[in-house]
Amino acid sequence: MKALPDNIHVFERGWLSSNNVLMLGRHEVTLVDSGYMIHAPQTLDLVRHALKGRRLDRIVNTHMHSDHCGGNAILQAHYGSETLVPVSELEHVRHWNEDKLSFKATGQQCQRFSADGPLSPGDKLTMADLEWQVLGAPGHDVHSLMLFCAKEGILISADALWQNGFGVIFPELDGESGFIEERATLDLIATLDARVVIPGHGAVFTDVAAALKRARTRLDFLSGNPVRNAEYAVKVLLKFLLLERQRMKLDEVPAMFAALPIVAAASQRYLGKTPEETAEWTIKQLVRACSARIESGYLLNDG
Ligand SMILES: [Zn+2]
Repeated sequence: MKALPDNIHVFERGWLSSNNVLMLGRHEVTLVDSGYMIHAPQTLDLVRHALKGRRLDRIVNTHMHSDHCGGNAILQAHYGSETLVPVSELEHVRHWNEDKLSFKATGQQCQRFSADGPLSPGDKLTMADLEWQVLGAPGHDVHSLMLFCAKEGILISADALWQNGFGVIFPELDGESGFIEERATLDLIATLDARVVIPGHGAVFTDVAAALKRARTRLDFLSGNPVRNAEYAVKVLLKFLLLERQRMKLDEVPAMFAALPIVAAASQRYLGKTPEETAEWTIKQLVRACSARIESGYLLNDG
């Protein structure tokens, strides 16, 4: 049995852009998640190529992180696609509330787009001529959703479950609960009997039980000492900025990185460092892990 039906296409492009899932129904076409803003023209090209003259009727977002909705604006401009977002983010998107959306806190970019309607846990959607259930998936993000097709056993897990782990548990950085929710989300996935998972990042995979086991081990490690989640978070955030920019002037990085609200929060709450010290520490960690290197006064993306 093939992992995915022929009318479901997954665009996988490294870690800066989330996976995009194109659902080619007989009467309607939906894209689940749209990647990061700097890849938006490429996203449009990929969609156009796969659509062969058809229209993209609808965009569905699992959550509002910049790497999942950064292509929305260009696709809306081109196709006028109806756009559905998690119900608890609908007003934030409509008013483009930068204090509620994550872009300002993380220093990530997202071109403003519009939202036409909500998606709530318990909703049902038809995509690729199949019925999909909308499931709540808090943990990585309070508002995140997953999509499950029981008939085919396909789960679109967003950043709640990857082949190796899951996304940063962001709510914990602000002193809110996230580990407990992530555990419940993994428990929910275990009940689904999914045959194949389309994760938010990385390759489609079928060994779901092994992925759940790895994710639970990882969650035990992080929740055992939340400092580890904070350390992981700041490394991921700086790596994301490096992936986006490829090079940053080394002497400008500490002030820029320290100014990000999420870095300040993690520093104060967990790391026992000033935000500037956190920035210096994070640079060292990326260099040590060969994720970055320093050359002629620049911090360069590596690895
Ligand atoms: Zn995310």
